[in-house]
Amino acid sequence: MESDIKLIDNNGKRLDGRSEGDLRNIKIEAGVLHRADGSCYLEWGGNKVLVAVYGPREAIPRHSQNPLRAIVNARYNMAAFSVEDRKRPGPDRRSREISKVISEALEKVILTEQFPRAAIDVNIEVLDAEAGTRCAGLTAAGVALADAGIPMKDIPASCAAGKIQGNVVVDLGKEEDNFGDADLPIGISPRTGEILLLQMDGHLTLEEFNKAFDYAIEGCHKVSEIQKKAILEKYQSVVEEK
Ligand code: ADP
Repeated sequence: MESDIKLIDNNGKRLDGRSEGDLRNIKIEAGVLHRADGSCYLEWGGNKVLVAVYGPREAIPRHSQNPLRAIVNARYNMAAFSVEDRKRPGPDRRSREISKVISEALEKVILTEQFPRAAIDVNIEVLDAEAGTRCAGLTAAGVALADAGIPMKDIPASCAAGKIQGNVVVDLGKEEDNFGDADLPIGISPRTGEILLLQMDGHLTLEEFNKAFDYAIEGCHKVSEIQKKAILEKYQSVVEEK
């Protein structure tokens, strides 16, 4: 979508003052819900996301069970009040797509073969949406799964990069997403570098793609450090309380 808004000025500063390689502020807290087996609250720029993990537990209905491994059901939902114009409640095409790509990303890191016939439910609730919610959701899901003690090869981390008015930048904000040229959300296993999620909206030349890809991967590694700190903070305080 073209716009009269100047998304990046002559000094390379973006609308919120960031440079092209800067992420928005990210705050992560692990273990915020008592009833869930694992949980996470995450703020990323103007996004607010809550994740509750249940399981592994017997998959119901029984015909959904896989005798060889656990099934991973990520369910992404945007609250009706999370966007400017009230969003019609309930699942839609977009939320089904995001649920599917996040489920597939998580299946690649969870040691599902350790839990045959089980289900691992990952409920992702977007309370405030301001672009980049699938990355925020996958990042928070990784922390909530670790908080639930579910064995994983690694904690998945996610970040996007994109193009605004001809400039490749990391972590698009709301206006940048609305009026920008391309968005490239990526999820990785930071330890191995395996790509768990990669989608692209818009057009990039090969050169732009490579730059955006590098920015998104670099962003994932920064996000990973914040995730590890959040988990450490929770479990360090538990040990200190004893
Ligand atoms: P992501 O949130 O992963 O970037 P999209 O690119 O599909 O996913 O959406 C970009 C942003 O558009 C969302 O973060 C949200 O702020 C906004 N948005 C998405 N769906 C709606 C909707 N139904 N109504 C209003 N705004 C929406």
